Amino acid sequence: MKGYQFTYSVYRRPFRQPLTTSHGTWAIREGIIIQLTDANSRAELGEIAPIPWFGSESIDRAIEWCQQVGDNITKDKIHLIPDDLPACQFGFGSALTALELPPTSTLAPKFDLSGLLPTGAAAIAQLPVLVQRGYSTFKWKIGVLPIAQEEAIWRQLMMAVPIDAKLRLDANGGLTQTAAERWLEICSSEARIEFIEQPLAPEEIEIAIELAAKYHTPIALDESVATFDRIQAAYARGWRGIYVIKPGIAGFPWRLAKFVTQHQLDVVFSAVMETKVGTAAALRLASDLKVTRSLGFGVEDWFDDDM
Ligand SMILES: [Mg+2]
Repeated sequence: MKGYQFTYSVYRRPFRQPLTTSHGTWAIREGIIIQLTDANSRAELGEIAPIPWFGSESIDRAIEWCQQVGDNITKDKIHLIPDDLPACQFGFGSALTALELPPTSTLAPKFDLSGLLPTGAAAIAQLPVLVQRGYSTFKWKIGVLPIAQEEAIWRQLMMAVPIDAKLRLDANGGLTQTAAERWLEICSSEARIEFIEQPLAPEEIEIAIELAAKYHTPIALDESVATFDRIQAAYARGWRGIYVIKPGIAGFPWRLAKFVTQHQLDVVFSAVMETKVGTAAALRLASDLKVTRSLGFGVEDWFDDDM
């Protein structure tokens, strides 16, 4: 049985400013960098970057799993990492995939990234800064302020979005059906709106399907399809719109690739606030899958260090 030498190290990266999410405040990103070394002394890295409130294992569970591995791991054992450890599946899976490729093909390809704007009116001042830096796709959170106020900010924002640029509106599941319909309506005459992301609660896939049929503005699901199980379930329930996929917590890269290819899913790849190791693995996968939409990996502003 072919085995690999295994080592790992746990990292802790404080955010420059704690992130406020609908699940509370996130101050420190904890993850694990793993290394697999083959019999020819070739080593490849992988990253385990869990987000438990998005349906992955916790960092403690991931550390526990790495501890019980010991100093060596076989390909078979990697394939047997259980489905309740999707971030571990991705970390080990991407290191294994890299080891099986010719060494020169493991460099991360270049992609267009989407730049995250601050919430509320602060987005108006930040947009030109991101344009200056070369971004042509932007994301702005909605469902944060009262809708009338947000609509007014949005109108101002649209005046600054370049004619050939795209804006994504991410509601993080926070809109009522009425508010969602209002946004879909006002955006429908605006070609620069790439999509509205997760307008409704994650389980409301049937309503999202109805709205997608009724309005011109495309809808993307994110929280609804956070894990591989949920991607499969959303497809089975009839979702044929855009899937925002976080490869870092979507399990084995080969299984995800197979499903996306088989069903020709329209996908956006998105970050889990991982380091360059996990980002490179996700970009290689995006390249294999010929993803054409800008990637949600414009996160370099979130940390002071450069991991
Ligand atoms: Mg989102």
